[in-house]
Amino acid sequence: MDDLSPSRALPQAQLQIGERFLDQGSAGFYDHVDPATGKVQARVPLAGSAEVEQAVVAAKAGFEIWRKTSPRQRRDLLNRLADLLVANADELVRLSCIENGTALKGAFIGPHLAAAWTRYYAGWADKLTGQVTSSHPTDQFAYTLAEPYGVVGIIITWNGPLISLGMKVAPALAAGNSVVVKPSEMTPYAAGLFGKLVLEAGIPPGVVNILPGGAEAGEALVTHPDVLKISFTGGPVSARKIQQSSAALLKPLVFELGGKSANLLFADADLDRAVENAVMFSIGMMSGQGCAFPTRLLVERSVYDDVVARVEARVRQLVVGDPLDPDVDVGPVVNQAACQRIMAMVEKAKASGECRLVIGGERAGADLVGADRADGFYVTPTVFADVKPDSELAQQEVFGPVLCITPFDAEEEAVAIANATEYGLAAYIQTKNLNRALRLSTELRAGTVCINGAMQIQPESPFGGERLSGHGREGGREGLEEFLRIKTVSIANANG
Ligand code: NAD
Repeated sequence: MDDLSPSRALPQAQLQIGERFLDQGSAGFYDHVDPATGKVQARVPLAGSAEVEQAVVAAKAGFEIWRKTSPRQRRDLLNRLADLLVANADELVRLSCIENGTALKGAFIGPHLAAAWTRYYAGWADKLTGQVTSSHPTDQFAYTLAEPYGVVGIIITWNGPLISLGMKVAPALAAGNSVVVKPSEMTPYAAGLFGKLVLEAGIPPGVVNILPGGAEAGEALVTHPDVLKISFTGGPVSARKIQQSSAALLKPLVFELGGKSANLLFADADLDRAVENAVMFSIGMMSGQGCAFPTRLLVERSVYDDVVARVEARVRQLVVGDPLDPDVDVGPVVNQAACQRIMAMVEKAKASGECRLVIGGERAGADLVGADRADGFYVTPTVFADVKPDSELAQQEVFGPVLCITPFDAEEEAVAIANATEYGLAAYIQTKNLNRALRLSTELRAGTVCINGAMQIQPESPFGGERLSGHGREGGREGLEEFLRIKTVSIANANG
């Protein structure tokens, strides 16, 4: 194992089951590679089905305590957790940067977003009511109860574990459920600290269990008969497997999946702002590894050449390098496999004749990132223009720092291009014409439409997709309802 400077040091990754912390799981170990250096840095214990079994037992016990915890107490405990997330923000950010390579500039917001989501759902904990559905004197009296499911399985991916924890664990707990969380084996560290903070906040042991692991642990959660709902964030390939393996139990599922979101830029837009957002949210932020990023920039022909030139100039300024360096805009991508997959797509696009490379399109070497990071997983910020809308580059998620630009002539054409993918997570409109923006917001097939700006995933607003981008919502009242079951209680009319 390499000698690493203290600032890169990682704690022992562990499995958290109730109050127990295990250094070993039944599925072996994952060699954690630092994306910034390409060097093996730590061993992550992997949960297998044995630990899933134990965690479900702990979660069932935790649920019995949690469902009897008063709503006000749940609210206060979740607020305490939010306070602790903020108090530990520096360490959470450091762990996030190291575990998946997210540059500090983008990662700093993670704990604060997780805290904001936790506070938002803490506010719901004491406001969960049903309704009277029948009260006529000659009829039966009936009302509804909003009840938790019990044990919920939460499977998340590596690109933003903290925000995913805020988006899923906070509403699940506010609704009264207990959870078994399976973070990706690549990102056990921030989630591990989150689990410890849950206990420090005073949330009873067993209410939150954290099992880093791979597909085996995920599969065990999905097929466990006592896990009564699954909330999943990841790609459509795993989602299909989950749908199949949960079919026997008809288990309810929330799927937050990928995207290939279009960004419609009209000539009347504020071009400075539009270009800044287009670049930073498709390439800069998280090295382009975001589900809802505007990765397809569609530009009205009259400003097309100007916008392509502005994008190129802005991308040229981006600093690629170590994620812990505060001046760096673009860190590495998460691992070797991701780097190779992205480069293969880039090379194929270059050779396809279906687009024109404007800038980038290579792995960043020692000259750009320094000799000690030459084996890190860096891809140069890449822009393709004149991208054919039906090409692979325009249709498939690259999940790396790669932006596609395509011209359009008419509004209808832009909408048709935007809608012509299998995904439907987000869409973006840049224009000063509010009538047009509102008209288009009803035409675009996406779970969220952002007008004149970038995606702000806010706890108050439901977020989610359609078609291959998934189903179900996170955020807002809708995100809470995913974790509640409605029961009707009816009382017969004694005089009837
Ligand atoms: P992935 O689907 O490979 O893995 C996601 C999680 O599922 C991991 O924890 C993994 O271990 C687990 N898993 C894999 N196979 C499983 C199985 N058969 N049963 C149960 N669990 C299983 O996704 P990824 O490649 O790690 O992540 C990238 C994808 O996630 C992209 O498509 C991205 O767009 C998407 N994503 C979506 C959102 C959103 O909110 N919509 C947010 C972040 C990322």
